[in-house]
Amino acid sequence: MRYFVEVVLPLAVPKNFTYEIHSDNFETITTGMRVAVPFGKNRIYTGLVLNKHTNPPLLYEAKPVEQILDEVSVVNPLQIKHWQWIASYYMCSLGEVLKSALPATYLLESETNLRFLEDFTKTDQLTDEEYLVYEALQLHSSISVKDLAKIINRKNYLPLMQRLIDIKMVVLFEEVLETYKPKEVAYIKLTESKSEGLELNNLLEELSNAKKQKEAVLIYFQLLAQQKRPLKQKELTDKGITSATITALIKKDIFEKYSLVEDRVNYNKKLGAAFELSEHQQQAFTKIKEKHNQKSVVLLHGITASGKTEVYMKLIEEHVGQGKQVLYLLPEIALTTQLVTRLTAYFGNSVSVFHSKFNNNERTEVWKNVLTNNSKAQIVIGVRSALFLPFSNLGLIVVDEEHEQTYKQQDPAPRYHARDAAVVLANLHKAKVLLGSATPSLESFYNVNKKKYELVSLTERYGKVHLPEIKLVDLKKAYFKKQMRGHFSELLLEEMTMAIAEKKQVIIFQNRRGFSSYIECIPCGHVPHCPSCDVSFTYYKYKNNLSCHYCGHTIAKPTNCHVCNSPELNTKGFGTEQIEEELRLLFSESTVARMDQDTTRGKYGFEKLIDRFKNQEIDILIGTQMLAKGLHFDAVKVVGVLNADNLLNLPYYKAYERAYQMLTQVAGRAGRKEQKGTVVIQTYSVEHSIINQVVGNKYYDMFMEQIPERKTFKYPPFYKVIKLTLKHKDFEKLKEASFWLYNVLKQQMNVPVLGPEEPAINRIRNQYIRNIMIKIPNENNLSASKVVISKILLSFDAIAQYRSVRVKIEVDY
Ligand code: ADP
Ligand code: ZN
Ligand code: ZN
Repeated sequence: MRYFVEVVLPLAVPKNFTYEIHSDNFETITTGMRVAVPFGKNRIYTGLVLNKHTNPPLLYEAKPVEQILDEVSVVNPLQIKHWQWIASYYMCSLGEVLKSALPATYLLESETNLRFLEDFTKTDQLTDEEYLVYEALQLHSSISVKDLAKIINRKNYLPLMQRLIDIKMVVLFEEVLETYKPKEVAYIKLTESKSEGLELNNLLEELSNAKKQKEAVLIYFQLLAQQKRPLKQKELTDKGITSATITALIKKDIFEKYSLVEDRVNYNKKLGAAFELSEHQQQAFTKIKEKHNQKSVVLLHGITASGKTEVYMKLIEEHVGQGKQVLYLLPEIALTTQLVTRLTAYFGNSVSVFHSKFNNNERTEVWKNVLTNNSKAQIVIGVRSALFLPFSNLGLIVVDEEHEQTYKQQDPAPRYHARDAAVVLANLHKAKVLLGSATPSLESFYNVNKKKYELVSLTERYGKVHLPEIKLVDLKKAYFKKQMRGHFSELLLEEMTMAIAEKKQVIIFQNRRGFSSYIECIPCGHVPHCPSCDVSFTYYKYKNNLSCHYCGHTIAKPTNCHVCNSPELNTKGFGTEQIEEELRLLFSESTVARMDQDTTRGKYGFEKLIDRFKNQEIDILIGTQMLAKGLHFDAVKVVGVLNADNLLNLPYYKAYERAYQMLTQVAGRAGRKEQKGTVVIQTYSVEHSIINQVVGNKYYDMFMEQIPERKTFKYPPFYKVIKLTLKHKDFEKLKEASFWLYNVLKQQMNVPVLGPEEPAINRIRNQYIRNIMIKIPNENNLSASKVVISKILLSFDAIAQYRSVRVKIEVDY
């Protein structure tokens, strides 16, 4: 009898492979263990066992498994089911899902490159073989696993390499090792016993014999009255108070020192150990639990700063109390820092974080903790890839900011939507899902209307703070009446000046980067374009260059027109850099900073800016849509949107929905604590219904207006849209290929097929682009349609001259 295992390899190949396994191992090998197997010419891959059997493959001779890499499964059957669903729904291979899902250290292969970790010193603990590798690594900055294998001269080398990673002698070459800890700024405040009920006079009396300490306390109160915000130790020492005096006051239990990280938790309301839900929150919480008894998915529609996080926390607590695992999904890595602080303060050590900026060791550790149901990872906070963790006992998934488009993976495949994949995962576990947003996606709200999901609403901000007042500025009139200074209306400038006088902060939203969108020659009208893309260069004044936002190609800014040689070049359109420059002139006394892809490029650039803003080291923050994410800043009083029209004019069927969400979310950053905020939206479209729905906080009106449009124009939630993107460097070939594909789809599908259209930007990195959209009505069988599409794509691939045309598939575009 011969024995076999079915193995999935981390590759974009459509099928799995059969390998032969020794009879001794057949008994013990199980689904979800990893094996090292040969594939292609001389390559060794790590694959995952799907099942075992005794049927030799018919079409090829099975090669033997080289080595079994695990003693217990690292992937469980529910995961495999989930991944199979992802592969089939999003039309990719199971191997591609595997590759996205497992930490890279779990998928070593012969071509993997390793790098020596300089601070490794434990050479005395190495075996002879390991020492050989150690020596070899002294000479190379990077070396492939296969080359190292030659040195030790044996076949089964993957486990050895795995061990070297585990003992931190090497890392995967591509690993970035930078880490960031938010800097801990020391703050000083009065201890609780002193701040409650004690008169300043009594305090000074108490200190009458300690002159310096008395002085210190006086200065403390003075500064506090001026600043109206937490005081740093440095601000006191700057006023001549010595550290010794401060220490003495701490000893007397008058001052208390705390650091920034704790500050976020402690200074406000002492969230830490315990907090009470407000009456509204409590009602919402009770309702969610009731509704979870009827439906597995509940949508929490809570306005900005209504305290959705607190409701999530109480719900998480219930599930954790029942011994269940909980997954908390966030759309953006940058949001994890704020949330982790809040959650660890409440839940202590049972919170783990999982995201792609973690190095592989950290990710592998979280993986192991989830696999063994370790209490350390009972609550996992993560971005979309956390869905792939080996949960066995999941009770609840929270999808925060469920409307965010970053939940959709773009490249590479699997191009999945984490919210939808979360709902499927929860069903496999018989777990509950809580989707939360102030601006739910039309899809989710429609699912409520269709009674697929249940709805719970929170319509009040926490602490009776009001929603900010939203004021409109008609740009057409303002420019006509000369009420503009640069890109700022008088109204916006007034509001900003008032806020800054009160030591409050301002956020300015502008959704374009760079100084100007392009430059144009005045005499001849020539606009410099990227040579590899069909798009004009963005102008960066500070670096004095022109840069392509699609491929990154950059050239020095020309002094004369490339065509007519005229030196008269005009800048057109404006981006964040230009706004920053204007603000530095208009508010020369204030600290201005900019948050966009250009200023947050460093690994933790985003976090650093957020920390500075949170600490009120920045008065005015200018930013792109990054700012619209669910960040919480206490002291923001004014939010300005410089030009809402950019958002309304995007060439995408979701443009209006997105504009509503973006504007409402940005507006929601204003006046979140204590004081009501103001939002100024500048626009040429004061009459636009989306703008008015934003001003009136009329989500439901927006929904009721957009839904019929979607139906009329055959878009989700009434049709499933599958988008095919074809790319090739030869324009004619691409055109021919896309017409062939379009025609066949149209003939065989019997549903609306659109295209093959040239997108607005029809060439990127020298590749021409064509799109085909297939719209499948809800009442049709979706999986049957996908089978037809897959078959057509196979026959497309079989045509020799089209083989080099790349086709990308996006389901639920
Ligand atoms: P949302 O996520 O709905 O936008 P948050 O959860 O960020 O709102 O809450 C807004 C602010 O109100 C935060 O500073 C939060 O700590 C505070 N807050 C909300 N609910 C409570 C509560 N029950 N007790 C104490 N503070 C709360
Ligand atoms: Zn380009
Ligand atoms: Zn010219």
